[in-house]
Amino acid sequence: MPTPLTDDEVAALRAATPFTADRIHLNHAGDSPSSDDVLTVQRAHLELESTIGGYEAAVALADDERAVYDSIARLIGCRPHEVARHEHATAAWNAAYWSVPMQPGQVILTAEAAYGANAVAHLHAERTRGVTVEVVPSDEHGQIDLVALAERLDRAPGGAGAAGGGSIALVALTHVPTNGGLVNPAGDVGALARAAGVPFLLDACQSVGQLDLDVDQLGCDLLSATGRKYLRGPRGTGFLYAADSIVDRLVPAHPDHHGAAWSGTRTYDLAPGARRFEHWEYNHAAWLGLGAAVDEAIAIGLDRIEVTIAERAATLRSQLAEAGLPVHDLGVRRCGIVTTTVPGETAAATKQRLAEAATPVNVSVATPDSTRWDFERRGLGAMVRASVHVTTTDDEIDRAVATLGGGR
Ligand SMILES: *Cc1c(COP(=O)(O)O)cnc(C)c1O
Repeated sequence: MPTPLTDDEVAALRAATPFTADRIHLNHAGDSPSSDDVLTVQRAHLELESTIGGYEAAVALADDERAVYDSIARLIGCRPHEVARHEHATAAWNAAYWSVPMQPGQVILTAEAAYGANAVAHLHAERTRGVTVEVVPSDEHGQIDLVALAERLDRAPGGAGAAGGGSIALVALTHVPTNGGLVNPAGDVGALARAAGVPFLLDACQSVGQLDLDVDQLGCDLLSATGRKYLRGPRGTGFLYAADSIVDRLVPAHPDHHGAAWSGTRTYDLAPGARRFEHWEYNHAAWLGLGAAVDEAIAIGLDRIEVTIAERAATLRSQLAEAGLPVHDLGVRRCGIVTTTVPGETAAATKQRLAEAATPVNVSVATPDSTRWDFERRGLGAMVRASVHVTTTDDEIDRAVATLGGGR
């Protein structure tokens, strides 16, 4: 059993970030402040670029830049060439999504916790590709209903009910939604998708860096992630995992001469592996910073990060309940994202009040357009989202809950 971080370890991590002690940060699901080391790596590269030239700096740090793929591969249990660099999770997700072969009349399966950007892409695919997007209902715990999913997958080619006709182009799941502590049973979804021979795209934006992930256990063919959230990396970074077993069947929507070789006057060849999803230009300093952040998470241990965050979030939920505030999180298994509302106050007003408190508390507001299918089913309005990380202390939770409850 992994052990949660000790108070001394937490104190050391807090001391190694520039984040001020005069403010309580409960917005790690939005942007988790980076460590001193992550900043140092970025600053050093920016300075080198300004000193000797950007292209020349890239050559000088080529080994370090390559090592970032190794680090990410270690983080999620894949091979380095199965990782593509991206500017953020949505870019990575879209690169994967629009490369999956889809025929008019085919079905895409997703779930109620789908992230807003992904839902808009689904609706756009209905309009432009002639596919139908089915939102698999949730079970009584609020997670994707595995029985309902299995039933629908039976219609897939290779599925038990394949003779019944119809086919499923893709299963797309959000692992941890942006608006609550729910952890969808991604590994079970992966096993069902694999058995039915249907590609599985996992939005792991909130779970990478927070949960101990392994792409083989998840059974996903494609996985998208961002750098700035639970990985504590720089803004404007992200990555896509594309499994060797599927990548040759995927056609990037807009390859360039880095993702493909312009091999003859009128010919080009897509690059092997996940590189076909990359474009040539990127922020080299931020990519190096992402590598440093991933290395730090691995050094702490993702299994220990996972249990520490779960413990902190459980503390926050029980304190909210003690203070008489509702907790809106769903799921059998819950993670570091906690949602609440203060009776008689809009979520936006609560956020504003917390920002103006003597010790400001950073939270965010989860609005219906971030996760509309879930908000509508539950008949909810905007919620206050407070997200913890390993650097969150019990004292901060006490003070944040006192401030939250103080508005009534
Ligand atoms: C934040 C978020 C995204 C988008 O990530 P970006 O890096 O902003 O593109 C995608 N999915 C989920 C579940 C998110 O919470």
